[in-house]
Amino acid sequence: MSAPSVAIIESDVPPPWQLMLSDLITDPQELLSLLSLNPQEKPLGLSAAAQFPLKVPRWFVSRIAPGDWQDPILRQLWPAQEEEIAAPNYVVDPLEETRFNPVPGLLHKYTSRVLLTAAPHCAVHCRYCFRRHFDYAGNAPSRTDWQAAFAHIAADARIEEVLLSGGDPLALSNRQFGWLLEQIESIAHVSTVRIHTRMTIVLPQRIDAEFAAMLGASRLKVVLVSHCNHANELSDESSAAFKTLASNGVTLFNQSVILAGVNARSDTLIALSKVLFDQGVLPYYLHLPDAVAGTAHFDVPIPDAQALVAEMQAQLPGYLVPRLVREEPGNDSKTRYA
Ligand SMILES: *Cc1c(COP(=O)(O)O)cnc(C)c1O
Ligand code: SF4
Repeated sequence: MSAPSVAIIESDVPPPWQLMLSDLITDPQELLSLLSLNPQEKPLGLSAAAQFPLKVPRWFVSRIAPGDWQDPILRQLWPAQEEEIAAPNYVVDPLEETRFNPVPGLLHKYTSRVLLTAAPHCAVHCRYCFRRHFDYAGNAPSRTDWQAAFAHIAADARIEEVLLSGGDPLALSNRQFGWLLEQIESIAHVSTVRIHTRMTIVLPQRIDAEFAAMLGASRLKVVLVSHCNHANELSDESSAAFKTLASNGVTLFNQSVILAGVNARSDTLIALSKVLFDQGVLPYYLHLPDAVAGTAHFDVPIPDAQALVAEMQAQLPGYLVPRLVREEPGNDSKTRYA
């Protein structure tokens, strides 16, 4: 990691993860040199990279095998020319999220849960991301906008759970996160906060003692859903992060997206469930990819995905088999396919 370029004032030392979070690789050429890969072999998708740039924490690059274009982590990160192939039915907002967006930063689709897009950015850009076209700028609420979101939650006693999602809510500082948590805690009918994050995977150092203690001290039940798609993404560092969270009473789940060329094999998915369990995390959802423009090359046909889950079921205890789901606009929950 490179040294910080600004002098740090003693009383305001950022935690080490904040320096790591600012040490992002965004230059495709730099990524390829670190991985000893030849750009001629798989040229950058220029317009894909312009629309949704390469972004990955330097630390996480250590999880990628050098010299291998087929590496399952690299495939999730590299802006490929396949993204530029127009595919019919692949649209910018397949989930019609703008329909369920009554207040900036808030999505209310399912009766008892609301989702807050808590941060305007992520530590990593995942090529398959269904929010790759999301209007984060228009959904980066100020504190005043936040008041409208909390007023919406406070006015609807059916809401029991608040999801903090992305962008990545753990891209916020502990102080900003703590402020959000306090606002949620102050609404009496909310019992649970759920954090959806990829930070436990791409920068597990983010889970520092101060953050974990803040969750442990909350009156709310705290659920954390990690987003991990392949066992190679799990590390000693993620294991330590999950231990810290669990010892502060946080319930740990994982959700994955089934992705062609990354994890669409039964042995790969079985290995993922086993390593997650080794790290204290249970599989929750396996998402069928959404039809987002630029992601058609990751698509797995539904019957193929169902067959993979059947193979998982034949070899794993039921608690290590994720639910195969897809989000379909207008339904009152995600739709189960297995
Ligand atoms: C997925 C999702 C939820 C949570 O659904 P669960 O079935 O409880 O996991 C809530 N709100 C939105 C907008 C979602 O996309
Ligand atoms: S971390 Fe999540 S929200 Fe952010 S780019 Fe990846 S999939 Fe999308």
